Amino acid sequence: MATTTPSTRPSEPSLNATVDACRELIAARFPGASDRGAAAMLLADGTVLTGTAPDATNPSVEVCHETGPYCEAFRLSQPVVASVCLHRSPDGAHRVLSPCGVCRERLAVYGADVLVAVPAPAAVDKVRWITLREALPHYWMLAFPEELHGW
Ligand SMILES: [Zn+2]
Repeated sequence: MATTTPSTRPSEPSLNATVDACRELIAARFPGASDRGAAAMLLADGTVLTGTAPDATNPSVEVCHETGPYCEAFRLSQPVVASVCLHRSPDGAHRVLSPCGVCRERLAVYGADVLVAVPAPAAVDKVRWITLREALPHYWMLAFPEELHGW
């Protein structure tokens, strides 16, 4: 079973560094102005991991940008405390993509206090951090509280 996250909120500088790392990966890996994205995760020990989704001929085998850092966090045995996914548009804007349902489900093993980036109201390029509890108000595992850790 995964270790749950500490209940203390990560610092603003560490959250900002996570967003910056995501933007930096997009710029370094995909120079230019094409539609591209990446994700970054902040771990409990302060490590920031980044990842991006490989191109696939068959879209049915594509993975989320979060998949790489999620697997790497597990390899390092470090809980994920925050996750951000950004999409750079050709105009240079970085749209904030809230985690999809699969990624929310994956992050849930680290507890309800994991922070996930969602677009700020009326500003799709501004990060707003919410807890996984807020992102999953009716998480299905709440029916099994004896098996749920960190919720
Ligand atoms: Zn996803």
